[in-house]
Amino acid sequence: MKICIFWHRRDLRFHDNAGLAAALASGLPVVPLFIYDRDILDHLPDKADARLTFIFDEVERLAQETTAAGGTFLARYGRPVEVLEELVQTFEVAAVHTNEDYEPYATRRDAEVGAVLHRHGVEFLRYKDQVVFAKDEVMTKSGTVPKVFGAYLKTYLARLTDELLLPHGSAEALARAPVPRLDPQKAGPRPTLDSLGFARKEQFVPTADLPADAVVRNYHQTRNTPALQNGTTRLSVQLRFGTLSVRQAMRQARALNPKLLSEIIWRDFFMMLLWHFPNTATEAYDPKMRRVPYRNDEAEFRAWCEGRTGYPLVDAGMRELNQTGYLPNRVRMTVAGFLVKHLLIDWRWGERYFADKLLDYELANNVGNWQWMAGTGAVAAPWFRVYSPANQLEQVDPHREYVRRWVPELGTARYPAPIVDHQFGRDRAVETLRQARLAAP
Ligand SMILES: Cc1cc2nc3c(=O)[nH]c(=O)nc-3n(C[C@H](O)[C@H](O)[C@H](O)COP(=O)(O)OP(=O)(O)OC[C@H]3O[C@@H](n4cnc5c(N)ncnc54)[C@H](O)[C@@H]3O)c2cc1C
Repeated sequence: MKICIFWHRRDLRFHDNAGLAAALASGLPVVPLFIYDRDILDHLPDKADARLTFIFDEVERLAQETTAAGGTFLARYGRPVEVLEELVQTFEVAAVHTNEDYEPYATRRDAEVGAVLHRHGVEFLRYKDQVVFAKDEVMTKSGTVPKVFGAYLKTYLARLTDELLLPHGSAEALARAPVPRLDPQKAGPRPTLDSLGFARKEQFVPTADLPADAVVRNYHQTRNTPALQNGTTRLSVQLRFGTLSVRQAMRQARALNPKLLSEIIWRDFFMMLLWHFPNTATEAYDPKMRRVPYRNDEAEFRAWCEGRTGYPLVDAGMRELNQTGYLPNRVRMTVAGFLVKHLLIDWRWGERYFADKLLDYELANNVGNWQWMAGTGAVAAPWFRVYSPANQLEQVDPHREYVRRWVPELGTARYPAPIVDHQFGRDRAVETLRQARLAAP
């Protein structure tokens, strides 16, 4: 039986899936595949990882749906290039379809996979699904990469049409399509968490449903109040792993709240930037900012990680992050700004810490936002802007509802004094960054 494979990566869903719809439209029976990538898994520091648990559960959900319909869902552990080579040698595969992934690692991996499949005479077809506009689809008038979000947003919105947000009828097509069942011996067993060398770690993830309309309608008024449980949409984990399609989320936002729509577009923006500038995953976009002599004091870094800085909003944020794997955007900005400016610790330390802890960790968004806060990015807050965490607290949590939830010892002798004086830290940051920018290259 001649088949094609649909390789799921950041799109753990059958509905509204561009690549899956295209695979089904090819007319060949489609066999879904997920690969637990050894190159990624082997580098996860914690062998009980909530993200892997989430991925595993979602893959099993798709697999069970497939087997209930009489089909085969392939799941393997290994290096994708080797797994795919083995599969095209085992089965009669005409093509492998998948959705594009714009991270530097993924583009390298896909180039390697494409070359190997080509050698075996198998087509490797990729589709845009994760974002609405990718790569160089939204450029400046002079054809350069946009570095100002406002201008990017204007062009983006002018191009955004209802058609672009229409759902791909992949789940419906799947229900109508023939269900290929492969020889179970050859298909092999699906890995378990245990066989992958991991233990379960459950952390709360909001459901894959869209947020309630009321949450979306009020978003612009509630998004900066971290004490509210539904102040923001909590879409990020679902968008990260593609259990929800970005088109669905954008359709709702476009109908109900332009502020939310523009926030979701930041996601496309940062993915576009990382695709153009893959080096910014690990170094400042602005060469002048590559020479900042960060202090990188390890004890202060630990105090930040553990929420013991003596600044209630920073400490509440870090404790929420440590316990839940989530943090609302406004508090992410406060804790990040404090680390890179008041403590003068390299933004990459913070970026890595977030990478370990965030359930919605996503390289482009994490790096883009950290570089923004550090003043080092292609788009960035002015390097000399240093927000006062105390003023921030007044603005976002005037009744201390949020900080008391996470820092119960606030106001007692057990709560530490500030690790650094705000004015001192601010002046030191501005002076250090000024000198670094003036220094000869
Ligand atoms: C230092 C720092 C690190 C961050 N790291 C990540 C990360 O690893 N992964 C991640 O998904 N987001 C990251 N963000 C962006 C943002 O904070 C989260 O997307 C958001 O808080 C998730 O909660 P929500 O879904 O309720 O967001 P909402 O406020 O309801 O926004 C809806 C959606 O819009 C998008 N969005 C909103 N704000 C941003 C933004 N600033 N940049 C990019 N997309 C945005 C997200 O997809 C989000 O799910 C980071 C922000 C900062 C300041």
